[in-house]
Amino acid sequence: MKNVVLIVDDDTINRMILMNILSDDYCVIEAENGYEALQILDAHEGRVDAIILDLIMPVMDGFEFLIQCGESEKHNDIPIIVSTVAGNPEHESHCLELGAWDFIRKPYNAKIIRYRLKNALERSQLQLMKKLQYMESYDALTGLYCRDRFQRETRRLLDEYPQKNFVLVRLDIAKFQLVNSFFGIPQGDGFIKKIADMIKEYFSQNPYATYGRMRADVFAMCMEYQDKRELENMAGLFREKVRKIIPEFDMIPVFGFYLVTDPKMEVNAMYDFAKMASKQCKGSYIQNFAYYEDAMGQDVINEQKIVNMTRPALEQEKFVLYIQPKYDIQGDRIAGGEVLVRWKESDRGMISPGEFIPVFERNGFIMQLDYYVWEHACKLLRGWLDKGYTPMPISVNVSRVSVYNPNLVDLICSLVESYQIPPELFQLELTESAYTTNPFLIRETMKKLQERGFTILMDDFGSGYSSLNVLKDIAVDVLKIDMKFMEEAEIPGRSENILASVVSMAQRLKMPVIAEGVEKKSQVDFLKGIGCEYVQGFYFAKPMPSEEYEQLAFCAS
Ligand code: C2E
Ligand code: MG
Ligand code: MG
Repeated sequence: MKNVVLIVDDDTINRMILMNILSDDYCVIEAENGYEALQILDAHEGRVDAIILDLIMPVMDGFEFLIQCGESEKHNDIPIIVSTVAGNPEHESHCLELGAWDFIRKPYNAKIIRYRLKNALERSQLQLMKKLQYMESYDALTGLYCRDRFQRETRRLLDEYPQKNFVLVRLDIAKFQLVNSFFGIPQGDGFIKKIADMIKEYFSQNPYATYGRMRADVFAMCMEYQDKRELENMAGLFREKVRKIIPEFDMIPVFGFYLVTDPKMEVNAMYDFAKMASKQCKGSYIQNFAYYEDAMGQDVINEQKIVNMTRPALEQEKFVLYIQPKYDIQGDRIAGGEVLVRWKESDRGMISPGEFIPVFERNGFIMQLDYYVWEHACKLLRGWLDKGYTPMPISVNVSRVSVYNPNLVDLICSLVESYQIPPELFQLELTESAYTTNPFLIRETMKKLQERGFTILMDDFGSGYSSLNVLKDIAVDVLKIDMKFMEEAEIPGRSENILASVVSMAQRLKMPVIAEGVEKKSQVDFLKGIGCEYVQGFYFAKPMPSEEYEQLAFCAS
């Protein structure tokens, strides 16, 4: 196929001469001025291979055209040869400054023109090839290696230094998609660039390291290391630095480490091991790194089984709602219930939430399951209202992943409206760890829900490591004290002491308290003594099918 040459000249005779010289070897098109030429370039994007440009023209002259072309990302790599009258060095130097590649002089010399054009085209091909090669090896956003090149460099490093200890590291940012959805893609890109800069800086003194960007917020590195402490310090350092980028969000860099034991293994497989390791810390806000261990391979297989069973289970409604009553401790009366999901598989029996909820939190399916549970809870309430009962409120769990859904408030409001459920009957339990990761977002979401009449319970209170800070910042309506306070503490009396102070503090803040996991009479007595109002636990009732709850709550007398 012939290369396309665009001749830009207002003089018809000049254009004809050039046409005669070039039309055997090239496909020649013409424009009368810079403006027309730009229009042609836009209309035939990527098709014009070279331009021969006159300088003095009406409408838009050659200088202006050079400026516009130079500023256009689409056209700035097309070689431009300027046609000048001999002996105007000022014009020529100005043209070169604006990006012209070469000159041809009037009167035209056919041979010279052909050579100059050919050379320019060859140079531009070469440039293009280099650019493509660069793009194949480097990530455009960060300038780091992209996946393939990183893998090749890692292979080279491992082969070249077989005596050294290497670790393959995978780094990603927990909840990175939030940055994009809250601040927009450009901010998200800016965030990624900052992470890339941190990596570059960290490794600037280390000759036995290579690193790259795999995709979105995922990076990989291969580095020599001395001991685990070095790696853990790195994880700590990054955590501090990343936190400072967007302080309100407390973004967490998550590190998966695979200590290379077999350097001959495929780099891809090493990366997968590092990835399995990093999955261990998703959802953990205490430790942002994990090492690959052999058992993880099995965990991955089990997890995959659950993932494969999920969709059919949802379609066949194998998720069922159980309800555990909550009791008013002083009066021994039912004061409502908590909806807890159960997965009934005919061949495996019951799968417990502890097994599948963490899996769903990782693959995002939890949002769908949450909605499913909420909708069925609304149906239950609707049924009871239609039967003429005056139901007590029931609470549903809102997973921390659902909290990140920017449409959460609308979603819940329209659900409750469509079943015509008064919002005070449909309570929401948010786990404490969600508050600690993202107080800013949670505070906003909670405020909106409370304004719409919903009651918010803080679930698992005391399980995190800054529970009291959370209380200071967020006005929840009810505290649910974590089950672990019911267990015997190693120091006798310790749990009881903490429990008593939490209850008295909550009373001062005018927040009702529910104690979870109450299994023994002695615990009930103790809780009564310290003024705790509500309990939920096996001592009174285990989670039960909704029909049983209905019997218990409305029909027993
Ligand atoms: P949670 O929300 O804190 O729920 C309380 C858990 O404690 C339930 O476990 C309940 O069966 C158990 N429990 C209640 N009383 C006692 C007791 O006296 N002793 C002991 N040992 N345990 C007691 P379950 O149903 O296995 O659920 C575990 C967790 O899974 C829940 O903790 C909640 O975080 C999550 N979960 C359960 N259902 C759902 C759901 O529908 N959606 C979401 N997002 N999460 C759910
Ligand atoms: Mg709960
Ligand atoms: Mg709980």
